[in-house]
Amino acid sequence: MSCYDLHSHSWVSDGTLSPAALVQRAAAAGVDVLALTDHDDTAGCAEARQAADAAGLTLLPGVEVSVTWQGMTVHIVGLNIDPEAPALLAGLARLREFRDWRAQEIGLRLAERGLDGAYEGAAALSRGRIISRTHFAHYLVSRGCGKDVREVFKHYLRRNKPGHVSGRWAGLDEAVGWIRAAGGVAVVAHPARYELTATKLRRLLGEFSECGGEAMEVVSGSHTPADVQTMARHARTLGLLASSGSDFHGPENPWVELGRLPQLPDGLIPVWQRWELALGAA
Ligand code: AMP
Ligand code: MN
Ligand code: MN
Ligand code: MN
Repeated sequence: MSCYDLHSHSWVSDGTLSPAALVQRAAAAGVDVLALTDHDDTAGCAEARQAADAAGLTLLPGVEVSVTWQGMTVHIVGLNIDPEAPALLAGLARLREFRDWRAQEIGLRLAERGLDGAYEGAAALSRGRIISRTHFAHYLVSRGCGKDVREVFKHYLRRNKPGHVSGRWAGLDEAVGWIRAAGGVAVVAHPARYELTATKLRRLLGEFSECGGEAMEVVSGSHTPADVQTMARHARTLGLLASSGSDFHGPENPWVELGRLPQLPDGLIPVWQRWELALGAA
């Protein structure tokens, strides 16, 4: 049986490996099918595809789109997209413009708290076109503001903290529309991480389906075993396809290594059947 990992990041967004190094690490870990899903950018897909051809691994071009839904940020992964599709590129460019403004704003807000140079520090750490809160977190750790990324997120970068700026990301319908127009399948990323009530999560997943979304992550590097069972129930009830991805960001986060995910629970339709069926029918 093939090993799938359908959620990962390179240094094009807030990962620490190049797209090629990420693919090589995945191949060495025994991954057969990898999706590169950088935040709001598909610029790493070409390099990843080349590296995948050399390593004998199947690369699915992907993206993780930032969405604002009911005042909160949720992430929608697009799998098996055309990374050059015009509507998707235009939409992502708009999100990156907001990101650039937000990064400067985070810098100003932290400076008001006596932490000057954070924008420059985060920008220097970001190699791609994306400045993420992750880059601010690494910078703040290097300044001794906390012992690790998790701690500085908690004290500086989360909602109601000095460096937090509310998102103005894509609408749910826009994100799903861009992904579908790029020939891809839309997937709700790490649904347990939003800490929604069951009712509100059903509302999110229901609206997502109505927009043309087809899948949700059941297995995720950020899901506990109990989360996996809960999300499996939602997927079965709502008839959503099930995805599985580590959300790997780099080797310094060893608790979500590539290719080390548990199997999908029984009674689910894996999202990859979507392409296998399409290939079989072709
Ligand atoms: P952004 O899209 O720039 O707002 O950054 C979101 C990214 O920050 C996520 O994709 C994670 O990689 C990272 N992140 C969010 N919350 C935390 C946290 N509590 N600890 C560590 N990383 C986090
Ligand atoms: Mn991230
Ligand atoms: Mn995410
Ligand atoms: Mn991610």
